[in-house]
Amino acid sequence: MRVLVGVKRVVDYAVKVRVKPDKTGVITEGVQHSINPFDEIALEEAVKLKEKKAATEVVAFSMGGPKCQEVLRTALAKGADKAIHIEVPDADASKLEPLHVARALKKIIENDKFDAVFLGKQAIDDDANQTGSLIAGILDWPQALYASKVEPDGKYLKVTREIDGGLDTIKVSLPAVLSADLRLNEPRYATLPNIMKAKKKPLEKKSAKDLGIDVTPQTKVLEVSEPPVRQAGGFVDDVSALITKLKEKGFIKA
Ligand code: AMP
Repeated sequence: MRVLVGVKRVVDYAVKVRVKPDKTGVITEGVQHSINPFDEIALEEAVKLKEKKAATEVVAFSMGGPKCQEVLRTALAKGADKAIHIEVPDADASKLEPLHVARALKKIIENDKFDAVFLGKQAIDDDANQTGSLIAGILDWPQALYASKVEPDGKYLKVTREIDGGLDTIKVSLPAVLSADLRLNEPRYATLPNIMKAKKKPLEKKSAKDLGIDVTPQTKVLEVSEPPVRQAGGFVDDVSALITKLKEKGFIKA
């Protein structure tokens, strides 16, 4: 089984994002970026399948500006065999939409045979949660989203999915699209020797233009704003003072 894994370069989850003064997006210059955390989980699962001999090759894919190569090198250090960078100019990278990414994935799969696409359940920058369903729809492949357990079973994958109030176990025939949920596994760290070895692993670069992918946006961001500032709390001396306050504010009936 050959697995194609999506790794998106996003602002690191530990960074407190700040909105640009003109409210057109968030500040990304000079800000730490990393692999989208759910993509690290998807990658870890693919690498584990390779270690169990259930997968034969793991190829990491990233679409975006030139700096995507950094996350692809990290993916190679964490166990991917090869990497593919679909490059778009920096100016277009922040406007990329899930449909553009899904179309790029389709082109890669048309050029080279893959049995599965593993993605994160969502990218933490745009929280779109669309790419998995879009690529499954475009390719007419079954999808197993929000996976918390993956067991290879011949021409199938048995996938346990986290759903509201429980677990849903399904079997999908390969080729299939899978998206990783938080509890699927704990991704490994890249060790120094593996970081060094990753420098020699193949990283193929193609432009979106080469693939004939039009990255014209279909949506326009009207405004990005900070969440409302939380009001400072106050202290009350006792329960009756609390009840009086709640009545004053209209939270309970007088
Ligand atoms: P989204 O639909 O944007 O929430 O993204 C869902 C998943 O699709 C991510 O967790 C990645 O695995 C993959 N993905 C989205 N955008 C990209 C990208 N530009 N490059 C590589 N993978 C991506």
